Amino acid sequence: MGFMNLFKHFLGDDWGVHPDDHKRPAADQAVRVMPVPAKLYLPLQQHLGGPARPVVLVGQKVKKGELIAEAQGMVSAPIHAPTSGTIAAVTEITAPHPSGLTLPAIILEADGADEWIDLHGCADPFALDPAEVGKRVAAAGVVGLGGAAFPSAVKLIGASKAKVTTLVMNGGECEPYLSCDDRLMRDAAAGIVDGIRIMLHATGAKVALVGIEDNKPEAIAAMQAAAAGFDTVQIRPVPARYPMGSEKQLIQVLTGIEVPADGRPADIGVIVHNVGTALALRTAVREGKPLISRLVTVNGNCASQPGNIEVRVGTLAEEVIAFAGGLKGDGLGLARRVMGGPMMGMQIPHWRVPVVKGTSGILAFDAAEVAEQEPNPCIRCSSCVKACPMGLLPLEMSSRIRNEAYGEAIDLGLKDCIACGCCAYVCPSKIPLVQYFVHAKGELAAQDRAKLRGDATKKLALQRQERLEREAREKAEANAKRKAEREAAAAAKAAAEAAASAASAGQGVV
Ligand code: SF4
Ligand code: SF4
Repeated sequence: MGFMNLFKHFLGDDWGVHPDDHKRPAADQAVRVMPVPAKLYLPLQQHLGGPARPVVLVGQKVKKGELIAEAQGMVSAPIHAPTSGTIAAVTEITAPHPSGLTLPAIILEADGADEWIDLHGCADPFALDPAEVGKRVAAAGVVGLGGAAFPSAVKLIGASKAKVTTLVMNGGECEPYLSCDDRLMRDAAAGIVDGIRIMLHATGAKVALVGIEDNKPEAIAAMQAAAAGFDTVQIRPVPARYPMGSEKQLIQVLTGIEVPADGRPADIGVIVHNVGTALALRTAVREGKPLISRLVTVNGNCASQPGNIEVRVGTLAEEVIAFAGGLKGDGLGLARRVMGGPMMGMQIPHWRVPVVKGTSGILAFDAAEVAEQEPNPCIRCSSCVKACPMGLLPLEMSSRIRNEAYGEAIDLGLKDCIACGCCAYVCPSKIPLVQYFVHAKGELAAQDRAKLRGDATKKLALQRQERLEREAREKAEANAKRKAEREAAAAAKAAAEAAASAASAGQGVV
């Protein structure tokens, strides 16, 4: 994303980087709960996979927690009303994306009553069949709250089928400026540990290893206290290093096992979830409440009162910022708006963009935080190579991509790049390395889609050709059969007539 001069540069002795984390004072402030806004803007695509499909009509009254859009397809998640009110529109709104493009969404006008639907929780989730836990999590629309927003039930059910043995819990929160997971672990450790135990039950995994970066001592203490007495939940402090929260890095640090290139964690018996997801899952299963709110960190030099705010999904970022105390100097010094973290989050064009299930942060940066420099030629210092957590050669890959030699970039490991930005962060020449990789991955994905379309077209043409040939063959066979039958019938008739004629000729002979 190019926020390279935000941090002091300290190279790690191994992979990754050690940026200034900018987490305090936001992390130390008590959570503030934002009242329900007058209108909520709910994109149908808040998760990885297929968008949800509206099941409500404009003008319809709904209660808090009521289903308003159902999941579509194998990988998808439903969306529920974050408060009671009236469906005002099913329309397009600005997506939480740098493009400023629009997304289909439902707009809900709050009625102020905030009245729940009837809730059907379960007092003893451990008595439920694991598949039933997965169904309840799916119905509640729980998705990964660490940012990826992958539907959690799909992951749980997949892990159960793959017979994973280890649940890795991501409490790393390695992105600078963000502290919502830290705050959640300090304030709701018992609920998170309960959620982790329900995840163990649902997946069949034997043990949960909870990785928490060692720059969060209060969260580590709270989680250790909550997990005391549960042998299956082990709290493991890990060094603060970006991108510790990346799936493959966290697994390797906690288990010592490397996920193979092109492989998935399940291939080595591991599943990864975020600590916030564990709490949302627990709420869904024990209380029957769908995912309709989350903690969001408001931070950056322009934020008047940095902190963590509990927000209903669908609340506009501008209203969250106003509730959080507004921008310093009425936002005159604002240079960049970001949703998510500064390394892997998204720059947004304006604040009229809603919080979605995966929104971990709303960051208001001033010019000092985002000043960018013109890139200089590579000095072949190899800092990018040392920093890469995936052991890649960023400078070599970028030079291949500049020459559009994508095949060679793939041979160098482009597909393993997690777009973490460490290489660009440490580059003294300020070469926007990660932008090359994101661009190349986009190109390759487009080529893959075109190839899939081409393959599908070829397959259809082949099937049509085979069908036409088969039909022609069957027609010819049927014709030949009919002709043979006609000929046989004619021959039989001729023989019968000949026999009859011979018989009548013989009657006159004495
Ligand atoms: S090459 Fe990819 S994975 Fe390696 S540091 Fe750069 S962005 Fe991260
Ligand atoms: S860090 Fe930058 S200057 Fe150094 S080798 Fe990599 S691309 Fe070149």
